[in-house]
This record gives sequence, C-alpha cells and structure tokens, in this order.
Amino acid sequence: MNFGFIIDNRKCIGCHACTVACKSEHDVPIGVNRTWVKYIEKGQYPNTRRLFSVMRCNHCEDAPCVDICPTQALYTREDGIVDFDNRRCIGCKGCMQACPYDALYIDPETHTAAKCNYCSHRTDIGLEPACVNVCPEHAIISGDMDNPNSEIAQLLATEQVTARKVEKGTKPKLFYIEGDDAALNPTSAPASESYLWNSQQGGVGHFAKYAESLLASRNPIEMVKQLDQKSTVESTPIVPKEPRRVYDAPNKGLLWGWEVSAYVLTKAISAGMFLLPFIAGFFYPGLLEGPIFTFGIGLSLIFLVITGGLLVKDLDKPSRFAYVLLRPQWSSWLTRGGYIITVFGGLLLAVLLTFRSAPDISRIFQWSAAIFAILTAVYTAFLFAQAKGRDFWQSPALPLHMLVHPFLAGAALFLIISYPLAILVGSSLWRGFLADALLVSLVVNLVILAAELFTSHPTKDAALTAKYIISGPFRNAFWVVAVIVGNLLPLGLLLFSALPLWIPAAMALIGLYVTENIWVKAPQLVPLS
Ligand code: SF4
Repeated sequence: MNFGFIIDNRKCIGCHACTVACKSEHDVPIGVNRTWVKYIEKGQYPNTRRLFSVMRCNHCEDAPCVDICPTQALYTREDGIVDFDNRRCIGCKGCMQACPYDALYIDPETHTAAKCNYCSHRTDIGLEPACVNVCPEHAIISGDMDNPNSEIAQLLATEQVTARKVEKGTKPKLFYIEGDDAALNPTSAPASESYLWNSQQGGVGHFAKYAESLLASRNPIEMVKQLDQKSTVESTPIVPKEPRRVYDAPNKGLLWGWEVSAYVLTKAISAGMFLLPFIAGFFYPGLLEGPIFTFGIGLSLIFLVITGGLLVKDLDKPSRFAYVLLRPQWSSWLTRGGYIITVFGGLLLAVLLTFRSAPDISRIFQWSAAIFAILTAVYTAFLFAQAKGRDFWQSPALPLHMLVHPFLAGAALFLIISYPLAILVGSSLWRGFLADALLVSLVVNLVILAAELFTSHPTKDAALTAKYIISGPFRNAFWVVAVIVGNLLPLGLLLFSALPLWIPAAMALIGLYVTENIWVKAPQLVPLS
C-alpha cells in the first residue's frame, strides 16, 4: 500500500468544498487549515485566467517533518500516510520549519501541531478522505499508487503530472495534473496586501456586490464601461501582467522568535565560559590555579540553565518538555541537542566536583566536557539544516558560524565581568588572552558572515533570504548593528584604542545577538506555499 493524492486542475473549480469538509471532519478551528485552495491570476485584462491550487500535506516518502520531530508525534504509517499523534506533540514547531510545503499548523486549542492525515480514520475502514468524497468535480483523486488497477495509478501512468519542490528530495506524493509553476511555486506570485476582497474595503465596497448591481441593471455594456472606469480611477489595472496571488490561507508568521535567537546566544556563552579557561590552561598552566576555571564552570552552568529555560518557554506545550528526553526520536537534532545539553551539564558538574579533589579523573571529565561544549554550540546548525523548509539554513558554513560564537561570546562576557570582578578574574594575563581570543573570533566571524551572504546561493529562496539581510527589511540591523557595532568597531577598538576592553566586548555581544536574531528570522520570511 502506498497512498497518494492527485489534484486534477482541469476539473477544480475553486469552490472550497474540500476545505470545508476537512474542517468539519476534523473540527479544525477558525484561522487554520489542513487543506486550502490558493488562487493565482495570470495574464492581463481582458486575456486573464484564474488558477486554483489545492494545498495540503504531500505525505512525503522521505518526510522531513518526521525526521525532525523529537518525540515521534509525527510518523509514517506502513501504508505511506504521514500521520500524527497530538498526545506526544510538545509544540516545538520543528515540523513546521522542516516541511517545505507549509502543511502544518499549531492548533490554537490544543497547542499541538496538526495537518492533513489523509483521514486515516476513514481510510482504515475503507472510506475515502472527506475532501475526496465532497468534491463535486472529482478533482481530488486518492488511492493506492502501488495498485496498478487503482484510478490514481492509472492516472499517474497516463497523465503528465507535477509536484511541488521536488528538488527538496522529500519525494512528495501529492501530484497535480496541469499544475502551473505560478501556483505551485510560492515565490512566483508572492504574497501581497491585496487578496480577494481585502482590497475592496475603500471606494467601491464589496466588488462582487457592485458587479451584481450593475448586472441587475441589465445593461452589460454599461457595466463593462463602469468597471473599466472604476479601475482607471483607482489607476490600477484590474489584473496586472505578472502572476499574482489573489486568495490564500492566512500567513503563519514567524514560528521561531527571540527565544530561539536568545537560546543560540546563551548556549554559545555557556560553551565559551568553559572552553576559554580550558584552552587558556594549555598556554598558561598557572592561570587555572586561581578561581577563573571554577568561575567559568559556574557561569557555564548558569547559562546552560537559562538555555533550557528559553527552550521550554518556546514550546507551545511547555508542560511536555521532558518528552524530548523520555520519548526520544533519535534522528531528530532536537532530541540529540537535548541530550547533548544534558550531558554537558552533567560533565560540568563532574569537573566542578573533582577539579581539586581528584585532578586525574577531572582531566577526563574536562576533555569530555570540552567535546560536549563544542557539540552544544554546533548542534543547532544541524537542527537548522534539518529544517528543510528554510533554504538559507542549509548553508554548509552554518556549523562554522555556530563554532566561532562560543569563543566570541565567551571572551566578550569574560572581559565584561573581569572589570567588576577584577580580584577574581581580572589578571592582565587573562585579559590579554581574552582580548586575543575576541580579536581572532571577530575576524573569523566576519569571514564566515561574508561567505554565508556573498557566495553564490544554491536556491532562489536562499538568495532571497540573503537579499532580505543585505538590502531588505534587515539591512539596518545587519549593517549598522551586526557588522559595524558588533564587529568592525570592536575590532578597531581592540587594535587601535586604549579604551577599557569591556567596551568592545559589550559591542561584540550586542552584535552577536542581533546577528543570531537576523539569522533566525530572515529565512522565515520566505513564503513556503
Ligand atoms: Fe506532509 Fe510537510 Fe511532512 Fe511532507 S514534510 S509529509 S508535506 S507535513
């Protein structure tokens, strides 16, 4: 068994019966959809055409939502249906970032992820999904693609079909007959402010009612003239030449916000507070005899706890946070990350307890903690790469981006606190080491940022994200705060000024947070459907 869908665009009339039937079958709340119909208009008046595209889960053969789900709330059944169990979902929204098709939503009532599940409760008893049943045109065809006698298998064998974003390698099983790129590719007809009915609020009022009243006057020639006149008065062509989106489901907005940017920073600080004294010990063995090492471990633990707190806060179902550890799905980097952070915390405690009393054993813990500190800093790059919906996060430079940040963040924070806590961590040797570490980190950071933004991008969506950062809505935050305040000025101050070191350090820390914030948010502005 291998269930799939065909949408026959030759027949779809855009009536939304499938959307309504699905809502009714699954009690889908207002504002979210398991299936919806997107309208695109093409051409220029009077030679125009409206295209309808039914959107939903593609029941991918290699489903990235299943791979990223940390608790096995999403899973692929033996019959090929990608189903979900909302009793396991923790509301991390990883699946929404991983799905390249915008198929999932967070249910506003249960706070857990949901999507089309092929009406598996109906399929199990031999019924067709509700949308298939209700469609008046038989434009939705479901069935077993492995059965050569099924209608879907025969259509697949005889008709030319297209699917959405096949380059993602997810092997989608939702096919379109006469699928049009303008409708299936979200950036071909970008979202705008003027969806159907939205633009009718001023002036004319309800456009359809206005057209109806003219029709009622039984003077079609006059009607066309008046409609034309109206469009001229508004100096907007009724249908512009470029394909445009005129009806769609509501935008889901930013799924991961400041909590994720902050958690990337706090775990970088946590890793850096351990790694810097650990590495400094090789250059200046005497340095670790003082309180610097234990102080660093203490701060590392504090920032690790803050990281955990931010992670839990970002969940839509925070009471289930322990499911990540208790119901693990091991291919998910969310699960791996949860364990990495936990083990790192345990190792830090072990180092703290053995540092003075059992130095030989402590050395083993220290090396292990160093490895886990690096993993703590870098694993997010692999988590972001698992979010296949966001092309910009697929950059091979992202692990390096994450790797340099513990050194940058750790050196900066240690430098800042070395002023008020001068007796504990203010030796000139240590400050000199931190200043060098900060200087090198800033240079490497700039090189990596340039590589991520200015080298060629493998996809249109990744290039679009880079454009958002360089010259779009994030340009001021990027150039002014991340680049100038966060990197260039601290570099200049470290090299050429006698100002206290906490000043460039504080600037670098601010720049780092703003960079993380941009890197988290910008890719989410590219539409997925
Ligand atoms: Fe469905 Fe998206 Fe998961 Fe593919 S990745 S199975 S389209 S939810």
